[in-house]
Amino acid sequence: MLTGKVAVVTGASRGIGKAIALKFASQGAMVVINYNGSKDRAEGVKNEIEAAGGKAVIYQCDVSDYEKCETFIQNVIKEYGSLDILINNAGITKDGLLMKMSEEDFDKVIETNLKGTFNTIRFATRQMLKQRSGRIINMSSVVGVTGNAGQANYAASKAGVIGLTKAAAREVASRQITVNAIAPGFIETDMTAVLSDKVKEGAIAQIPFCKFGKAEDIAAAAAFLASEEAGYITGQVLHVDGGLCI
Ligand code: NAP
Repeated sequence: MLTGKVAVVTGASRGIGKAIALKFASQGAMVVINYNGSKDRAEGVKNEIEAAGGKAVIYQCDVSDYEKCETFIQNVIKEYGSLDILINNAGITKDGLLMKMSEEDFDKVIETNLKGTFNTIRFATRQMLKQRSGRIINMSSVVGVTGNAGQANYAASKAGVIGLTKAAAREVASRQITVNAIAPGFIETDMTAVLSDKVKEGAIAQIPFCKFGKAEDIAAAAAFLASEEAGYITGQVLHVDGGLCI
């Protein structure tokens, strides 16, 4: 259970982040639902949590903006008194073959997925170090481990998230703060809904479980890593991919 914990979930207006927000709230956490553009959907997540008797607030912040992340995290701490769990889930894709990829598409994906993760960790750890406790969970991807044609920017960002996770884990371990990554495989969300049927069929053929995962599969893994029981696990990458990466 996460009773009384303050949990920030970035990119929680939809998909995996939404599932994590719902799961954490159902376990008693006060959830800060971060979003970038989808205010209505973020409010929908908040309403769903409150209707089930949970606690949540919404907070707009583009995680790629360093200064806005400082204000965001400081405001959460000021308002709620602590920051116990940070889930760096916000992420985007801008796919294209390497030789045709624009500099802008490369930078945008790195700035959101990798620098965005750094930005929030940068300010959250200050508070967690004072508390001498904390859980940080960063969303990587199977693609950050295996690479994928057409996703040089995304694969680089997600491999970077793994390196960042391991470095941060070493830096804060002495204060009993854990930092781990989850590497989802193919999960049914808006991000994968845009894939063509041919790409989806090709992906399923590679997955030992022969199907895409659900956002709830990732939320369950996040809830475990955020729990008291996972207190001696740090610097790890938990693959939740139906066996794709075996
Ligand atoms: P999604 O359905 O596309 O949702 C992305 C979320 O990220 C949205 O809530 C979005 O907010 C938020 N976001 C995007 N840019 C942001 C920014 N600059 N600042 C703050 N929030 C931002 O994606 P998903 O499939 O749930 O993926 C969630 C995470 O899992 C991502 O990091 C993704 O790379 C990773 N992942 C997904 C899969 C998969 O198969 N789905 C596989 C491996 C890894 P708005 O709605 O406000 O724009």
